[in-house]
This record gives sequence, structure tokens and C-alpha cells, in this order.
Amino acid sequence: QHLKKCFDTRGGVFARKTGEIKAVDDVSFSVKRGEVLGIVGESGCGKSTMGRTLLKLIEPTAGKIVFDGRDVTSFSPRKMRYMRRNMQMIFQDPYASLNPRHKVEKIIGEPLLVHGIGDAKERKKRVSEMLEVVGLSNDQGKRYPHQFSGGQRQRIGIARALVVNPKLIVCDEPVSALDVSIQSQILNLMEDLREAFNLTYIFIAHDLSVVKHISHRIGVMYLGRMVELTSNDHLYNEPLHPYTQSLLSSIPNPDLDAKREQIILQGEVPSPSNPPEGCAFHPRCPACIPICESVRPKFQEISENRFVACHLYDSHTISND
Ligand code: SF4
Ligand code: MG
Repeated sequence: QHLKKCFDTRGGVFARKTGEIKAVDDVSFSVKRGEVLGIVGESGCGKSTMGRTLLKLIEPTAGKIVFDGRDVTSFSPRKMRYMRRNMQMIFQDPYASLNPRHKVEKIIGEPLLVHGIGDAKERKKRVSEMLEVVGLSNDQGKRYPHQFSGGQRQRIGIARALVVNPKLIVCDEPVSALDVSIQSQILNLMEDLREAFNLTYIFIAHDLSVVKHISHRIGVMYLGRMVELTSNDHLYNEPLHPYTQSLLSSIPNPDLDAKREQIILQGEVPSPSNPPEGCAFHPRCPACIPICESVRPKFQEISENRFVACHLYDSHTISND
């Protein structure tokens, strides 16, 4: 709720400038057990920072994080470590997140040790189950990360996240570094695992086409803010926010090309250290109206489960039919 993460930019290379970057700027949403919430936005929109803040791998500047009915915002690092059994993360670059000097079975078993789960024999059994669950063999557990392909490494990353039996997994662009043919294998595996273990995913991606099949709802972020949040159906078939419309129009889709004109955005994404006044999207928005330049649009629910931050909908309600 109202999550914020600011980074101080004083010191370092910008020593003479003072200020802060609002990487995550007042973001609110909820996710239900068993649900997949996709979070989409261009690089630098704050989606990874938000994912890490949710697990308190970095401390939020303001706002509240409630997990399973418990406000974990002010949990001490020790208490949080305990909670993190329930909240795991899968990273974009599995290779960078796997210790190259450890055998895969050790890497997968590490979280069990950290959380003090089971004795040596039980841990070994659990690791071997996890290898099987992600489609790897026990023999492969004896190898080192560099002996695996990108897709297999991501399987290892998934096994490591799953080994402690979490409820929620924040997936930070888990397939972005993989070839397209491998992407769908990993997405299918993740979907199967979600069903088998009743997992909840917050699935971060920079591309709407990746989250399309796996997500129930999708949130779109721009410059640290959530600009639209709605069901998969509504987002793809009737996007409300002009930014969502432009993201969608850039996905090649033979069925839709006839109906949907491609919207080419003007200019670059502005720097998050100096976001535009009013609606942060206004310098690039093809639908900009005068109020957009000075007044920040509220993120509001304009009909059931359809949230949008855009002045075009200030006095509108949309029917869900
Ligand atoms: Fe465009 Fe204005 Fe809506 Fe922002 S608030 S997306 S500038 S129409
Ligand atoms: Mg990122």
C-alpha cells in the first residue's frame, strides 16, 4: 500500500547535485493466493526495485507491505528472514545468481540450511525431489552451474526458490535472458508448478507478450508509478491508459493488426531523477490534455477491478460488459 522507494543521489558522481530518485512512487496493489500478477514496464520503470522492496531485500522508504494478513513493513531483519521462507525470488540472470563454485545440489539445498530446515538426510531428499520437479536428474545435481544451458540454469534457480516451500514467488524477468523457444518451456514449467503447489507469482517483465499467457491480472508501470491494473482480458482487449495502448500496439499480432493502429511514442523515457510534472507520461502522450501537465492523475478504480491513473477517465465510469 502506497509503497515508495527513493534513492538518494547525493554523493558519488552526482556529488554536486542534490536530490533523489523516486524509483517506486506510491504504488498500491494486492495479489491473491494462487494468482499470477504480471507487472510490465520499460527498463528503469522501477519494477525490479518494487519486487525487491516487497520482499524487503531493500527497505521501502514509505508505505506498507502486508503478507498473509501480517504487516511485515517494520519486521526486523531476523524476523524477516523467517518470513522469507514464504516469499522467494527468481532472478533474471540465473547464472549471476548461482555460485559458480558450488555444485547444483548444494545451491538448491542452501536455503534449507539458511532456514534450518531438516537434517542432512532430509535435505538431500528434498533437493532430489526439487531436481525432479524442475526436470533435472540427480546426476545433474553433482555438476556445476557452468555445465548447464541458460534454460537449465533457470530451472536450478526455480528449484532453489521452491525448496523451502514458499507461498509467494517474485519472478524478476525470469525468461528475458533466454531464447524464445526456451522461454515457453520455462513459462510452462512455472505454470505447472504454480498449479501443483498452489503458488502465487508476481511476474515482472518488460514485454507484454511474455506475461500474456501466465497472468490473471496485469499492472503496467511507468516511471515508478502504476498506471493501469486490470484483468488480463481487459488489458489486452480494451486497454485504458494511453501508455498501455502504445505498449500493446507494438506487439505484432496478426489478428489485431487490422483493428489496431501502431502507436509510435514520441521521445525517450524521461529520467526518473527528474520526472515530468503532472502525469509523468504527458510529454509522450498522444492524448494529452492541458490538466495533464500540472496535475498528477489519481490511480483510481473506475469500474470493478479496473484501475487506471489518467485524466481521460476522471469523470468516466466504464461498464464491464
Ligand atoms: Fe495522457 Fe493525460 Fe492520461 Fe497522462 S493523464 S496518460 S498525459 S491523457
Ligand atoms: Mg529489472
